[in-house]
Amino acid sequence: MLTKAVCIKCDVEFEYERGDPRGAKRTVCVDCKRATKAAWRRDNKSEIADKTRKSRAEHRLARSPQYQRRRIYKKCNKLGISLSQYPHLFHVVEFSRGLGPDWEVDHIIPKSRGGLAVEENLQIVPGEVNRSKKTKTHAEFIGYLDARGTDLDWYLSRRITATDVIANLEA
Ligand SMILES: [Zn+2]
Repeated sequence: MLTKAVCIKCDVEFEYERGDPRGAKRTVCVDCKRATKAAWRRDNKSEIADKTRKSRAEHRLARSPQYQRRRIYKKCNKLGISLSQYPHLFHVVEFSRGLGPDWEVDHIIPKSRGGLAVEENLQIVPGEVNRSKKTKTHAEFIGYLDARGTDLDWYLSRRITATDVIANLEA
């Protein structure tokens, strides 16, 4: 519906489409609004340039291999992986990250139950699987899923063991 209004800045009558469900009334015409914006941009030129520069730099950084590597180092640290002892585990975490944000590195025997961050005890699973597994061991989790009547493939067909990842790297 077209609504008539008078601009509070230039006193010119204008029409506008009243689309806002809250019934907001437009009080400034399009031309004045545009002029106000342009003036604001003129007055804030250096700040806008600063922000643009910063945001571009951040985007560049996020795409940089150094940044990605640092993120993987951090993740390894969080998982308890000692890269000085097991440098090849870097690729397991890197592979997991490459699968996307829905995938997580899981300790087959949980850290809290004494499971170590070593190749034999790490696997990559979807986040939903990890959240369901919680502090259960691999064997306990299978029993748990079985008791609940869940198709075991929901877990088994989607787990990628660290050993698999490393074997694939070497192949
Ligand atoms: Zn106006």
